[in-house]
Amino acid sequence: MANDSEHTIFDAVRDASAGPVEPVRLKESDGFCFHCHPDVACWNVCCHGADVTLTPYDILSLCRRLEIKAADFLARFTAPAIWGPAGLPVAKLRMEGAEGKGPCSFMIEAGCTVYADRPATCRYYPLGFGSFKTKDAEAVDDFFFLVRESHCRGHAEARSLSVAEFHHEQGLADYDRLNRGWIDILMKMASWKTMGGPGGEDVSKQTKQMFFLVSTDVDGFRRFVFETKFLESYDIDDEAIELLRNDDEALLRLGFDWLKSVMFRESTLTLRADVLQESIARARGDLGAT
Ligand code: SF4
Ligand code: SF4
Repeated sequence: MANDSEHTIFDAVRDASAGPVEPVRLKESDGFCFHCHPDVACWNVCCHGADVTLTPYDILSLCRRLEIKAADFLARFTAPAIWGPAGLPVAKLRMEGAEGKGPCSFMIEAGCTVYADRPATCRYYPLGFGSFKTKDAEAVDDFFFLVRESHCRGHAEARSLSVAEFHHEQGLADYDRLNRGWIDILMKMASWKTMGGPGGEDVSKQTKQMFFLVSTDVDGFRRFVFETKFLESYDIDDEAIELLRNDDEALLRLGFDWLKSVMFRESTLTLRADVLQESIARARGDLGAT
């Protein structure tokens, strides 16, 4: 079906170009053999030259842990990149060494120094996560797949568990829940992109900048919400506005809803009646209507 779309969001910690992805879709109840622990011969190998796209909740968690602002985190630990299928700007974890093939900045011999707050991609490994949506379906279907790289000895360990057990063990529920809106945007943009973008056109440079702001810098987005005419434009009740002042997760949800309304004209946010009337009048004026 031409408009079906399938996209893998967390491919693997490492570049999967060597073809280690097993072409089998896994459900939550499916099992696999895997155990990663400090005594494996390959300990830390996967934390070199890793290809880690940072989700909004990854950045939020790491900033909290390191007690730094997002702008500082982005400058010190990330590199800008484009998430190819959607053509949208994202931040990747910067690896040290020539051509980014060295160790992750958070890696020491004993392991990951930010383990409790490691990014979703690191948590998922050796699973990949993808989403699939058929043209007529309302919701997306998520699926998993196994990434079996030759250097990773974890697959040879005698421990079998289900995808759901691994997901729970890796503490992925909060990451999935809080990143959902962001993943939906990437997914939708990726499927639109085959047609050039929403309505056949790519989204503007300014919209891409706002996507990057929401995705990477919750403090910057809060300033945008409270220091521009944003709150005068949308119907958001006082209680919700108070929540947005201090609740980063609520602000992220607003950011995703706002991006969906701007990028895809979804009714995730309601324009205030006077603003709506004004924009209708402006559109009629542009069309030469009286
Ligand atoms: S954040 Fe931690 S787990 Fe992820 S690549 Fe860096 S050191 Fe490895
Ligand atoms: S077993 Fe796999 S995931 Fe664990 S350290 Fe080795 S390469 Fe990394």
